[in-house]
Amino acid sequence: MNVYDSERMVDILASEGYESADEPDGADLIILNTCHVRERATEKVYSELGRLRRLGSAKIVVAGCVAQAEGDEILRRAPNVDLVLGPQTTHRLPLLLRQSSRLNRIADTEFPIETKFDSLPTPTAGGSSAFLTIQEGCDKFCSFCVVPYTRGAEYSRPAEKVLDDASGMVDQGVREITLLGQNVNAYNGCAGGLAELIRSLDKIEGLDRIRFTTSHPKDVTEDLIRVYGEVESLMPYLHLPVQSGSDRILHRMNRKHNIEEYEGIIRRLRSVRPDIALSSDFIVGHPGEEDEDFEKTLALVRRIRFAQAYSFKYSPRPGTPAASSADHVTEPLKAERILRLQELLNLHQVNFNEQFIGSHLPVLIDRPGRKERQVAGRTPYNQAVHVAISERDESALMGKIVSVFIEASKPNSLSGVLASQAGLEPPEHRA
Ligand code: SAH
Ligand code: SF4
Repeated sequence: MNVYDSERMVDILASEGYESADEPDGADLIILNTCHVRERATEKVYSELGRLRRLGSAKIVVAGCVAQAEGDEILRRAPNVDLVLGPQTTHRLPLLLRQSSRLNRIADTEFPIETKFDSLPTPTAGGSSAFLTIQEGCDKFCSFCVVPYTRGAEYSRPAEKVLDDASGMVDQGVREITLLGQNVNAYNGCAGGLAELIRSLDKIEGLDRIRFTTSHPKDVTEDLIRVYGEVESLMPYLHLPVQSGSDRILHRMNRKHNIEEYEGIIRRLRSVRPDIALSSDFIVGHPGEEDEDFEKTLALVRRIRFAQAYSFKYSPRPGTPAASSADHVTEPLKAERILRLQELLNLHQVNFNEQFIGSHLPVLIDRPGRKERQVAGRTPYNQAVHVAISERDESALMGKIVSVFIEASKPNSLSGVLASQAGLEPPEHRA
């Protein structure tokens, strides 16, 4: 979401005559767009601001969730900052840039009545795969999480506006859209929610792939599960954070779902879309987590076998209920648990990727590869693929969905050759 927000800031500043610079040196304006969700976010911002002090003349803005959480404190501690801007007022950036200076330093951390979405320009798309924010904020208040405090209450953009933006993006060459929201499946910008929005997006000619992230298990409806069986442009991939495999810890986390419910969702999803790739987030060492709770997390992972996952050591976030618990888990124990969990998750990820060696996958080519004569893209299951090509093919392949013969896999990517080049007939495929 921060990448998306940063792109919107670039768009809005382009209309003011700004252009992106490659590096801070020599820039007239530097924006630190910050995330506050884990670890030492605040300290990192202050140390970065310290480093930027040598660039005396540049105007400096701190935006995003650290800006929201710290507010005036940033102006007090970092004299080189001109403007502090929370995530809900990015549309005011041009105006505030004109108003602010080292002599008139401003902190805007309001949650305004007017929504920034009404004021931000239609997203400009730079490639064939793009993000589109449809929902923001969170009302769930998980014990460990700072998002409801920094991003504010849940808000969904009206479906007509989302569909307008999506059509505009497809006209610019986008073939894959990832819908974004902190709780994207709590989307209520139309009567039928996210499932209906996906059905409507599916009707846009030229939009071949739809994804969404991040979902909350509590808001997975039966209709959303059904859509996975019906809408071919909805990619067979779901990121559904579970956080822990222990009901006791889920309760302490205020997650509002238990393991039986979570596994029920997975079972029903697999029955309508057997090949679906599943991804999750895990937190190890939430206050109160005992060995047996952690073993339950490992057991859940073994039962589900995620295609990929993110896992984090619990980090206390100022102002959240879990931070003031009396039973914090020690750092060495957290470190030991995260290693064990990641070893298991990696094993499953490797196994998931290896099953495709020797088969064909449809890959949306969206960027040049890191090496010569190579392009890169993603499979329906969201795996990155590096594809060897002949020199003349590179520009012709951008934005195309091609059949790739998979030759090798690594934990985080696959590699292969164009099926047409390998002299192999591409089989029928879904995307
Ligand atoms: N809305 C999403 C996730 C938002 S934050 C959801 O409900 O799942 C992204 C991930 O960061 C979370 O899923 C969680 O695993 C992790 N996270 C959030 N706060 C954290 C904390 N205090 N310590 C460690 N990880 C955290
Ligand atoms: Fe944070 Fe929980 Fe909301 Fe996700 S659902 S953003 S983890 S409070």
